[in-house]
Amino acid sequence: ATQEKEEAPHAVGRRVVLFPLPFQGHLSPMLQLAELLRARGLPVTVLHTDFNAPDPTRHPELAFVPIHEALPTSATSPDADIVAQLLALNSGCEAPFREALASLLRREDVACAVVDGQWYAALGAASALGVPVLALRTDSAATFGSLLAFPRLRDAGYVPIKEERRDELVPELEPLRVRDLIRIDGSDVDALCGFISRVADAARASASGVVLNSFDAIEAPELARIEKELSCPAFAVGPLHRMCPGPAPAEHGLHAPDRGCLAWLDAHPARSVLYVSLGSVARVDRGVFEEMAWGLAGSGVPFLWVVRPGSVRGGGADEPPNGLDEEARSRGKVVAWAPQLEVLAHEAVGAFWTHCGWNSTLESVCAGVPMLAQPCFADQTVNARYVTHRWGVGLEVGDVIDRVRVAERVRMVMLGEEGDRAREKVRDLKLQADQCVAASLAVDNLVRYVLSL
Ligand code: UDP
Repeated sequence: ATQEKEEAPHAVGRRVVLFPLPFQGHLSPMLQLAELLRARGLPVTVLHTDFNAPDPTRHPELAFVPIHEALPTSATSPDADIVAQLLALNSGCEAPFREALASLLRREDVACAVVDGQWYAALGAASALGVPVLALRTDSAATFGSLLAFPRLRDAGYVPIKEERRDELVPELEPLRVRDLIRIDGSDVDALCGFISRVADAARASASGVVLNSFDAIEAPELARIEKELSCPAFAVGPLHRMCPGPAPAEHGLHAPDRGCLAWLDAHPARSVLYVSLGSVARVDRGVFEEMAWGLAGSGVPFLWVVRPGSVRGGGADEPPNGLDEEARSRGKVVAWAPQLEVLAHEAVGAFWTHCGWNSTLESVCAGVPMLAQPCFADQTVNARYVTHRWGVGLEVGDVIDRVRVAERVRMVMLGEEGDRAREKVRDLKLQADQCVAASLAVDNLVRYVLSL
């Protein structure tokens, strides 16, 4: 990643085969990478599941081939346990992926495959077919590093997380505390550890390299640690949504955005609106949802709130939150899905109340928007810790979501000195991201590496 910039490589001929994991936060970065490689002259084929299939018409220059998997409902149901879902996807897609790749190999000169890092089965399958394979991590380098360390952390007694150790710093992963380590509520700890081991083992055994949606200016030590641990190169080609020359990143979406909220934003002064979204997967209990509503109502701040259908456990996402009385209702706008990049780029937006999914975190950083962090599960706790304690670009909502605290935190990030400090720091990071996008050194290095395989 530190190589001097030479003439940008421009390849012709050798094909790269991509295989995204079929979820919003994974599809977008993979398709952005696809467009990036194609723009450098590499022909790209995207193998994909029928489940949550991407729309080929949005990417006319990429080839799309469905693998036609047969999956149990445990792999596709929105109520499925996430770990069980990932295990079922891996086992159900392994053979169809292998067949689709083998069939392509008979017709094409394939330089390498790039598969989502969660596809441990596909990593092994590609490697067994003799195809060099890279793992795309759509999470942060800090998260991936913590996954690689998981077996050691388990042996040292940090996981499963014990109440009395929650606030201890994890020695090799500072600033992470025990409580910030990846967790999936409701999932069996053994199943989670088993899944993480498979992912880490596949990366170690089969990957010729790792591609990350991150950049040196925010995670240089974490990236170096990964290279050391895996003894293979790590290409930090992010922020991918900014690097990508193809269709607007919003076009990768599985849901149609409600664009009416942009006109609503137009009618607001600069930095006056709080944007609220917990991403494409996270769900909250009805009680938390109500406290969020009451807290927003009590804050006095105008807000644009994404309430995804099905995102409130126990139902009611489609009903107006009870906390929104007439006054709050006229101050807020609730949509089912927003054109997030355009919203974050809008000058009316003053802060982002986010679950700290990695894409949302990067998008907020790149837009120079400070965050209010409400991590829900998986890597979100890791990202939230970096947002609040490593980069200082946001504040925590806190462990317990109650209306008084919410109102106080919302005012703090929108109107307080804490918010101003975070805004200053996030603008600084945004500038560093801009420089990284302008240089695009890591992408050039990745293309050279692909052509050398
Ligand atoms: N997103 C969007 N509109 C919304 C909510 C989310 O376009 O109303 C996009 C957002 O820009 C991001 C992705 O969905 O690219 C969510 O990915 P992230 O990694 O933040 O979270 P996940 O959904 O995987 O938990």
